[in-house]
Amino acid sequence: MKRIRYTEKIKSKAYRLMKKFPIQFLDYRRTGVKVCLILLISLFIRCIPITNEADYLIENVNLIDVVNGETIENCWVEIVGERIGKIHLSEVKGDSRTKIIDGTGKYIIPGLWDMHAHYSLNHDFVNPLLIGNGVVGIREMWGVPNTIFEIRRLINKDSILAPDIYTSGDIIDGYPPVWPWSTKVKNPQEAVSAVKEQKSQGVDFIKIYTNLSKESYEAIAQESKKLGIPFAGHLPLKVPMAKALALGQQSIEHLNGILEASCSKPFKLDSIDPMNRIGRASFLVENFDSKKFDDLCEKLAKSDTWICPTLSVLKNTSTKLDKGFLTDDKLEYIPLHTRQSWTGSTRDKSEEFYEVFERLFDLQTSLLGRMSERGVKILAGTDFPNPFCYPGFGLHEELVLMNNAGMSTLEVLRSATYYPAIFMQKEDLYGQVSEGKSASVIILNENPLKDIRNTQKIEAVFLRGKYINKEELSELMLSLKDKNQ
Ligand SMILES: [Zn+2]
Repeated sequence: MKRIRYTEKIKSKAYRLMKKFPIQFLDYRRTGVKVCLILLISLFIRCIPITNEADYLIENVNLIDVVNGETIENCWVEIVGERIGKIHLSEVKGDSRTKIIDGTGKYIIPGLWDMHAHYSLNHDFVNPLLIGNGVVGIREMWGVPNTIFEIRRLINKDSILAPDIYTSGDIIDGYPPVWPWSTKVKNPQEAVSAVKEQKSQGVDFIKIYTNLSKESYEAIAQESKKLGIPFAGHLPLKVPMAKALALGQQSIEHLNGILEASCSKPFKLDSIDPMNRIGRASFLVENFDSKKFDDLCEKLAKSDTWICPTLSVLKNTSTKLDKGFLTDDKLEYIPLHTRQSWTGSTRDKSEEFYEVFERLFDLQTSLLGRMSERGVKILAGTDFPNPFCYPGFGLHEELVLMNNAGMSTLEVLRSATYYPAIFMQKEDLYGQVSEGKSASVIILNENPLKDIRNTQKIEAVFLRGKYINKEELSELMLSLKDKNQ
């Protein structure tokens, strides 16, 4: 459209010139026409600016501004090395080495982040699924630092297709630890040493867990503050939400503590045996207090703490496995040992468990929209590869779950793009399609602001400036199926 308007403008300029100097043109009609044509062509060529920096130029694409929630139509987006270059609102041309991507009728969004991932031990099969689904970044919630640093080294050498990683080290738990292989601390002294040790390893944040004592939790909070490293993760059973907010826990996972803090009856956090999951869940559902919940939302909104609900894992652990789970085509992407652990995960669950946990999940999801409306800061995360939480695909499912739970489509999109950037304090690099940001972006066939499911209609992905088209993305993922045969 723009190109046509431009041509017409030039034509009318030439017409005005001819009108102004009719005699000269009449006198030299033949040469005049030739000169005029040459003039027109050269004007036309000269008037479309040429960019000589771009490795790629995405032409005529609709840009999704996730900050303002707007669709900016007809943009020309430069990709320069690993960054987004200039964004033009009218046509530009690349030079001879610029590769052109036709973005007509398509939409460009920032690459997606899964903010609750378990990557280190699974990266072999996880990488193709993440990139294949436009998940260009993850927050690793149980990092093996050496593995992560090796992946980052390979990324720097450009010899692996892997996401950017924001990582914790080993999780820090108390006694008895939920997972015997985590770092266990008995007292505040051990807690402080664990934080120091992890900080010296070079991780991005400290991951904390369910059975930390109140004293150890406080020691972790203080030491983290002293060393300038965030702490995030589960809300320990013995720590009230108010304390976590006061001490600045960076994020709370799985909606931990939300219902406990919204309970109409005095709820002694350690009064119910933590192993009695059914008793605890039904107590929380039965004694939910809406007013207390609204007060909590207000406090959460004012705090620095983010909520990563991980609806996928909450749903999958509270839903009885039916045929749909077990015949899912996506299972073929998953290695046999992981698949077996998924199908075996239901072994110890009773009918009563499902009855109570389905009610718990329904209540939890019914609250998410209210939390979002009241300004609680929310991140999208899946907790893959927990049972049936698929790496990559799972993030798109999480976005749909969040949307169904009442969050607006824009808020959901932000929770996997713009908000992760703010959360990590990396707004200069991530979260938007704008000049200078990382060239990890997705080109979609439909507008995700119209329907969040449109994030699944991927035409191509740029991963740190590397272009991967639709066919290459599906080949990347199909290679896993071959491996798993
Ligand atoms: Zn997790």
